[in-house]
Amino acid sequence: MARSVTLEDGTKAYAFGRDGLYVASPERAGKRYRVSGYDGIAFYVAGAIVEPTEVYDDETGEHVGYDYCPSGSLACVMVGDDRIHAVEGDEVAEIGENDYCHECGQIGCKHDGR
Ligand SMILES: [Zn+2]
Repeated sequence: MARSVTLEDGTKAYAFGRDGLYVASPERAGKRYRVSGYDGIAFYVAGAIVEPTEVYDDETGEHVGYDYCPSGSLACVMVGDDRIHAVEGDEVAEIGENDYCHECGQIGCKHDGR
């Protein structure tokens, strides 16, 4: 089970790796993607990676907390695996339901009978 933290605005973020954080992308749920450099393997996108930006009070200049903004990278996971790969958003392309094997997760494999 992924560790999760609640950001200051109430959004739930999930931790991965050493200090990565991502927020869920419900609009990508259930979809499958091809990732550059991993041709042949279908991925799903767990969420959008966010990075903290320090926030300072306008008047006092005091550090008051962090804002978490999308970094442009996506938290991608190979179908059948659970390790998060941080991938630049433009290296991720959606594929169709029938473009990958539902048993082993490989793009082009047909052994699931589709
Ligand atoms: Zn297969």
